[in-house]
This record gives sequence, structure tokens and C-alpha cells, in this order.
Amino acid sequence: MNVSDLAKGVQRGERRALARAITLIESARPDHRAEASALLEALRGGPEALRIGFSGTPGVGKSTFIESFGMMLTGQGLKVAVLAVDPSSTRSGGSILGDKTRMERLSRDPNAFIRPSPSQSHLGGVARRTREAVMLCEAAGFDVVLIETVGVGQSETMVAEMSDLFLLLLAPAGGDELQGVKRGIMEIADIILVNKADGDLKPAATRTCADYTGALRLLRKRVQDPEGFPKAMLVSALQEEGLQAAWGEMQALAEWRKARGHWQARRAAQARHWFEEEVRHGLLARLSEDAAIRAQMADLGASVMAGTLAPGAAAQQLLDVLKKAE
Ligand code: GDP
Repeated sequence: MNVSDLAKGVQRGERRALARAITLIESARPDHRAEASALLEALRGGPEALRIGFSGTPGVGKSTFIESFGMMLTGQGLKVAVLAVDPSSTRSGGSILGDKTRMERLSRDPNAFIRPSPSQSHLGGVARRTREAVMLCEAAGFDVVLIETVGVGQSETMVAEMSDLFLLLLAPAGGDELQGVKRGIMEIADIILVNKADGDLKPAATRTCADYTGALRLLRKRVQDPEGFPKAMLVSALQEEGLQAAWGEMQALAEWRKARGHWQARRAAQARHWFEEEVRHGLLARLSEDAAIRAQMADLGASVMAGTLAPGAAAQQLLDVLKKAE
């Protein structure tokens, strides 16, 4: 199938075309990369989805939440795509569906599309390709794109860089908590959802939610937030409680930002960020393609490790070599 047929299939919302398009953008082959660029270019300016980044450590209930939340949205007539940025999946081969029971109902829903994390050797590569997959899902007419991450390394920041809203899912904590959640994540979260607010866990969930409400108040107010955001809320993914309220807040925040231009500004800044990422990556890739430069980099790296050369000075030497080579 040529690129223009593939683009048409994606635009018609055909799942097979979408799956093939994502496989194409995940390929590292240079001819595939060229086709992927042409495809993304052909699809630019199409419909917009609400891109929701979503993080939480294993066990907090992410798959249960995505399934309940996703089913609620498809029940309202919305089309939902679920993508993942999971650096650990390079080892397990796509952990979003590694466990067969994960999101079983949602994966059978004709209005849902679930795609595991691409297997790449490093997080940057996974994130770049996932961002393009988000754009493909958008072009295919999905209303909501959920981008899940388990929060290893810098994955949360990367996911926030491709999302309109960022959610953090937490489980009820025992005792006086707040530990375990990095401050940086609190700063990028728009809504914290304290899950498992049911049964015996309800009192602990309520306390945890109050603790985070207090902690969020101490953060510096952001211009792109209306009064009351960022906020912490209680949900039960298992009992399907609080999901509609959470969705209401997500929509309210999205509308507020759209009305004031923050939405567009954020997307514009994100586009520049990914442009710079691609350039950075491309430059590094080009360096490693040249055998002489690769050898020189290895030598300089060894000198830096041996302590005979400072990192900054070594980098400067390499950059000088590149300049002369031009
Ligand atoms: P993930 O690792 O973050 O994807 O978490 P899972 O969705 O696999 O859930 C981990 C465990 O928490 C499972 O045993 C779920 O049944 C349980 N769980 C998830 N959501 C809830 C909830 O809302 N309430 C309760 N009580 N348990 C939940």
C-alpha cells in the first residue's frame, strides 16, 4: 500500500490501516522513516483529539481505570485510543498487553483501539514514536487518546510533552504519606486521581486525597489553570465510581484552556520541543554513522572516564572536529 492510500485508510478510521501506519512510524529503516514523514505530512491539519497523559506505578489500578474509564467514554459514543510509553517493555515485549487480562473488555470494543509501547532500545525513541502514534490516532478520528506510562525514568515528563492534560493515578496510602511521589510529577499533574476509594480502603483514600489537596495548594499557581486546579479527586475504577466526575473536570479544564489560548500555546510549544528532539537525535545518529568520528568519540569518552579530560572540553574538541569536517 502506498503512503497516500494508507493516509486515506487512516482518515477513514480503518483500524487495520491505523495499525499498519503505526508499525510504519515505529520502523527504524531509513526508507520507512521517509514514508512515515510523508504519511504524517499528508495527515496534518485533521481532526483534534483530547490527548490525556496518564501515569501511576504498577498496582495502583491503571489498567482497571483505563478499562472502566474507556468503556464509559465509548458508552457515550466517543472513540478512545490507548497508547503506552513504557521503557521497561523493551524487555518484556510490550507490557501493556503482556498480561492477557489487561483491558479485556475495552480491547474488544469496536470504538476502542489499544496499542502497546513500541520496543526501542531507549526511552527517547519510544517517546518520539509514541508521539507520532498519537497524531495518527487523532487523524483516524479518535476523540480521546490516553497515553499511559508507568513512570520509569523521564517517561512522565515525555508523556506530559505530548498531552493536553496530565493525570496521576495513586492508590490510598497508609499513614502520613506524600512520599514516593516525586515533586516534579506533582508539578506537571493537572488532576490527581486517588483510586480504590471503595470498601475498606475508602477512609484511607479519603485521607490521601485530602493530603494531596493540601500539597497541591502549596504549589505555585500556573497561568494555564483556572481556580481550583490542579486538583485531587477520589475514584474507584473497580466500582466505576467518580469516573464521570473526573471526566467532567477534564473537559472543564480543557475548555477553559482552549477559550484562553493556553491549549494552542501548549501544543505549539510541544511541537517545537519535538522538533528540537528530532534534530538532537538526528545529529547524534549522524555522528555515530561516521566511523572516524565514532572512533574519536570513543577515545574522548575514554579520556573523560579516565579523568584526563573534562566532559565539556572533550565535547568542545569533538565539535571542533565536526566544524573542520564541514
Ligand atoms: P496497574 O498495575 O496499575 O495496571 O493495576 P491494575 O489495574 O492491574 O490493578 C492492580 C490491582 O488493584 C488489581 O488487583 C485490581 O483489581 C485492583 N484495583 C484496581 N482498581 C481498583 C479499585 O478501584 N478498587 C479496588 N479495591 N481495587 C482496585
